[in-house]
Amino acid sequence: MPGPDLLDAAIRRIPDFPRPGILFYDITGVLADPAAFSYCIDRMLEQYKGMALDGVAVIESRGFVFGAPFARERRLPLILLRKKGKLPGETWRRSFALEYGEDTLEVHKSDVRPGMRVLLVDDLIATGGTLAASVGLLADGGAKVVGVFGVIGLPFLHYEEKLAGLPVTTLIQFHGECA
Ligand code: AMP
Repeated sequence: MPGPDLLDAAIRRIPDFPRPGILFYDITGVLADPAAFSYCIDRMLEQYKGMALDGVAVIESRGFVFGAPFARERRLPLILLRKKGKLPGETWRRSFALEYGEDTLEVHKSDVRPGMRVLLVDDLIATGGTLAASVGLLADGGAKVVGVFGVIGLPFLHYEEKLAGLPVTTLIQFHGECA
């Protein structure tokens, strides 16, 4: 099966999870399929080949699994963006609105250097709110996001508006909340 079809087949669609009306795109099937997972990491390496990067920032928790192999392959520092209260050191912190309620992300101040060129990685880009907050968080430490990567993109939720001016790459796009 060609790579894009392999990826499509490995992503499970779960209607009404975690709430009624949400179609959840589950990437655990991608991780359980070595060919599909390798396809994702190989495509990332290809996409950013030759791009000068100083670090890879990954969003808890599914961003970790895609960003870590890429960072290791490129021999780049891996920067964890974590939910509130998980990081023991001094942190930069940003809160942002979710569809219902609010969330907070933190990063260790010691992991972010002024002028650093960072690739930001998550598994799925929906409204782009999580990534936009992450861009701000890294900017607090003086770092510049030079690329945003998500395995899955949901462009019908208009993430481009929140990520205006940033080069966004997704490997597969879905165009609705239908299974
Ligand atoms: P957003 O901030 O709206 O772009 O939401 C992105 C974050 O929420 C990512 O970390 C995703 O893992 C998760 N997410 C949002 N919508 C979905 C969905 N339909 N299926 C799976 N994960 C989702």
